[in-house]
Amino acid sequence: MPSLFAKECQKSLRLQKFEALIPRIPSNHPVLPEVMAEYKKWLAGYKGEKSLVFYLSMLPETKYTIFHDLRLKLGNYFFQIDYLILCSSFALVLEVKNRSGEYFFEKALNQTTITNNGTTERIKNPVTQARLQAAKLTRWLQEHYCAKLPIAFLFVNANDKATIKFAPGTEQLQRNMCNSECLLEKISQIQSQYKEDILDVKELKKIRRLLITSHTPHDPDLLKQFNLTENDLLPGVQCPVCEHLPMRYERGIWNCLNCKTTSKTAHVKTIHDHFLLIKPTITNGELRQWLCINSSRTANRIFHSMELAYSGTFKNRVYFYKNKTTAAKATVIFPHV
Ligand SMILES: [Zn+2]
Repeated sequence: MPSLFAKECQKSLRLQKFEALIPRIPSNHPVLPEVMAEYKKWLAGYKGEKSLVFYLSMLPETKYTIFHDLRLKLGNYFFQIDYLILCSSFALVLEVKNRSGEYFFEKALNQTTITNNGTTERIKNPVTQARLQAAKLTRWLQEHYCAKLPIAFLFVNANDKATIKFAPGTEQLQRNMCNSECLLEKISQIQSQYKEDILDVKELKKIRRLLITSHTPHDPDLLKQFNLTENDLLPGVQCPVCEHLPMRYERGIWNCLNCKTTSKTAHVKTIHDHFLLIKPTITNGELRQWLCINSSRTANRIFHSMELAYSGTFKNRVYFYKNKTTAAKATVIFPHV
């Protein structure tokens, strides 16, 4: 039986990059506050989405399939859906927000504002955003020759501290929004509107597979975004316990000078950080610089232990972020592997 979550709620590549980047920015670097502010914004969004797993998990897996964070290409642009809930009679797009404060939906221009600690800012109307994603998904499914499925949409407020108010004449927006604790109730209401089965098991499977294979994760270049270069970053292996940089390498063991933790494998995450932040390849020289080690023999031993795929002759060898097994599975063929 297929599982309820076809695509689980996980941290995005962007969040993974932020978490690799932040410990490597010197604490006195002027860009750090901006990076932290941006990171907190994305993290709050993710936490809001994550908090819905509790409710969504209660949906019967015999009926529903759930996709978290889908990013699909339509024409020259991508569109992104926080959650897509799919069943044989309809699909439901969720736009999730996790902001505290008071939402106010105005009639004029369909405007939405949010007031928090005395300041009011205009935000994109989250119901309109959800409707737009649903419309894009409808077109996307058409372009992929899928059966015409009704697509409902909802703005879900995942923040307990947020309140939602409406100007007269905007009450109908309530049909397409809810607080997270009412999500299941709302889904069963929507379900009662779409009773007719439109997709058979085969078509459901096809759409499920199509969505998974078409998903293209956003891969932002954080260094570029914050005007940083590799030289701005602190190199070295990070202590897995206290996050101190760099750990010292002695006879196969990484030692933390701050908390005395020792590790044989702490470099694995550090090399992964390089692939995330800098580029998807690394040479022996680059590895030594990044891990703060001197010996090229040690660097080779580390490469060997990680079973990274590589190409090029010994001296000019370049290693890739995939290890040999995943590289083989993906049928990427490197001449010297
Ligand atoms: Zn430590």
